[in-house]
Amino acid sequence: MDSTRMDIPSSPADDAGIPDTEKVRCLIIGSGPAGCTAAIYASRANLSPVLYEGLQPGGQLTTTTEVENFPGYPDGATGPVIMEELKKQATRFGAEFRWGEATAADLSSRPFKITIDNKKIILAETVIISTGATAKYLGLADEKKFAGAGVSACATCDGFFFRGRDVAVVGGGDTATEEALYLGSFCKKVYLIVRRNELRASKVMRERVMKAKNIEILWEHLPKGLLGDKLVEGAVLWHKKGTPQEKEVTIKIDGFFLAIGHKPNSDIFKKYLDMDEVGYIKTVPGTPKTNIAGVFACGDVQDRVYRQAVTAAGSGCMAAIEAERFLAEQE
Ligand code: NDP
Repeated sequence: MDSTRMDIPSSPADDAGIPDTEKVRCLIIGSGPAGCTAAIYASRANLSPVLYEGLQPGGQLTTTTEVENFPGYPDGATGPVIMEELKKQATRFGAEFRWGEATAADLSSRPFKITIDNKKIILAETVIISTGATAKYLGLADEKKFAGAGVSACATCDGFFFRGRDVAVVGGGDTATEEALYLGSFCKKVYLIVRRNELRASKVMRERVMKAKNIEILWEHLPKGLLGDKLVEGAVLWHKKGTPQEKEVTIKIDGFFLAIGHKPNSDIFKKYLDMDEVGYIKTVPGTPKTNIAGVFACGDVQDRVYRQAVTAAGSGCMAAIEAERFLAEQE
């Protein structure tokens, strides 16, 4: 057994031979670029990190196709390939990747107590939170009704099914414009449903969507519901909702893509960690330190501005270095 990972003798073993309570020096929660990079650094520093991969192993990058802006890939690579390589690099130095989701946390004292899949308890000397963020939905009943049947929050994952068809993207930010352009490259027509009369997206993206011949921007529109039997066949929108000019508009579409932002996956830490109003974990500026010594946050769960794979990876490196320093000070 690894001398730095002490199993509590009285704990019963589960099916995989991993005891139900286990002590680790460094627990990493989440397996996107931030978590994997933290795992590379923590394992090279002999912290014997244990990483729980979460509900989406590899994180959001696994839901993208070609990634052209991750350094070291001059010809680009797919998200899943990059994540597989990061994982390989971390396991090479002894990081242990495990299936499982952190379902509860008690950060009131050290060792911190993290529950995995509602049953296994990890007692961790340091915790690196790299749980990322999840795409937001509008909250329409029809989004659930047509989930996997025309409704998606990831154009790069599901867009392929709508080749040659008409689709809609909801949102006016960089994600929405990027997805509209991506879909526009193989769909017949793309409606961009924007709730205000301007786009939040960066100038270059705004210009690109405005120029695209098969993208129609529906300004001041809000989705009301979706039409169809088993599959999406159309959408009903409000135009200028709440004004005297309010009216309903129907569009014929086969795919309905949400791109209205993300929610950080931080709920289980709410009781202990400082967060902003959306749930992004607050860190000491320029560091991955949270308000609790020994608990670090990196990647999208603490970054509402950049949200790039490479910035997530950089912050994962910082979290591992800080975890190492923290443990050295304690020991
Ligand atoms: P944003 O928060 O930037 O944009 C969300 C968009 O959705 C806004 O236009 C917002 O409208 C709209 N919206 C939000 N809620 C609703 C709702 N209930 N109904 C209708 N519309 C709604 O999220 P993004 O995911 O686009 O971007 C997040 C961050 O990631 C940004 O900093 C962005 O720059 C960055 N990013 C960078 C990329 C790159 O560099 N390649 C690619 C993608 C994202 P409103 O404007 O009215 O608030």
